[in-house]
Amino acid sequence: AHIQNKIAAGEVVERPSSIVKEITENSLDAGATVIEVFIKNSGMESIKVVDNGRGIDYEDRSLIFERHATSKLDTAYELFEIRSLGFRGEALASIGAVAKVSLQSMSEGSTPFKMVISGGDYETDTVWHERPGTIIEIKDLFFNTPARLKYIKNLRTETGKIIDIMQRMALNNPDVSFRLVFDGKDRFKTTGSGNLKEVINILYGTQVSSNAIPVSGTSPDYTIDGFIVRPEVTRSNRNYINLSINNRHVRHFKLSQSIINAYHTLQPKDKYPLVFLNITMDPKLIDVNVHPSKIEVKLSKEAELLKLMEDTVKNGLMETQL
Ligand code: ADP
Ligand code: MG
Repeated sequence: AHIQNKIAAGEVVERPSSIVKEITENSLDAGATVIEVFIKNSGMESIKVVDNGRGIDYEDRSLIFERHATSKLDTAYELFEIRSLGFRGEALASIGAVAKVSLQSMSEGSTPFKMVISGGDYETDTVWHERPGTIIEIKDLFFNTPARLKYIKNLRTETGKIIDIMQRMALNNPDVSFRLVFDGKDRFKTTGSGNLKEVINILYGTQVSSNAIPVSGTSPDYTIDGFIVRPEVTRSNRNYINLSINNRHVRHFKLSQSIINAYHTLQPKDKYPLVFLNITMDPKLIDVNVHPSKIEVKLSKEAELLKLMEDTVKNGLMETQL
């Protein structure tokens, strides 16, 4: 089973940033409203996540590092109606196979516990007392997979990827307070007030947030809402096109392109816009199962959404020109 987990680790936990994503998504799935992420040495030394979610039942503790042990999927049918972020039960098993993991958890009315896993083997299982929630720390990432370790060359790139993931997480969950700390230094902290514009302000400053205008649009199958930033405020790449579906960050080339095309009627062709848009839709219309990272999506009624996106952004841009 350890070998199988090491193979899976290649897809799901290929680098520190993908681990940060998986672990914080678990915290969100557990209903956490405060999620603190502490990173040491770009995640290679330590990734620690503290949440105030509902925690893990003592009885379930031996299952969480088992492959395909997920508490989030009851029937195959649910695969088409994924509402929670995790559903494969692969992340913790994969991470436990390639790092030293210490996990402490407590759920209401259950025995608190702590367990330490190294290279897939359990080391200790002692009791810990505090409040409901989970603390997970991942240390010495890839200590037993030298090839993978070598592949992580540029630590600055890793730090950038972690910031990127945490920012998108904060944008997609304004009602959750996120704190990101690198080597003891705070990078950002959102309040969890539920106000998206406030999150934009915390992450990108007033120059961006004061130029963000609310937009919304609806078609039979889709609703789009969020903020677009006035075309005068530009970026030199497409990384500031923040798209989510049902509050989950997604990448979709054609959707991004339709936004860029609308902006390029008002913006120089070598500049790119900032947008923060969420699409609400019936999860049945998404095929989230296309890739383990769950970022690339396929849609069943793509043409309808592309049209709605174009109209919504164009209407918003027209307002900015008044
Ligand atoms: P998945 O998220 O796909 O179910 P994971 O391997 O990421 O699989 O996690 C395995 C299980 O461990 C989850 O289904 C959940 O029951 C439990 N778990 C992991 N992290 C947390 C957390 N922070 N709070 C509560 N439960 C958690
Ligand atoms: Mg998960």
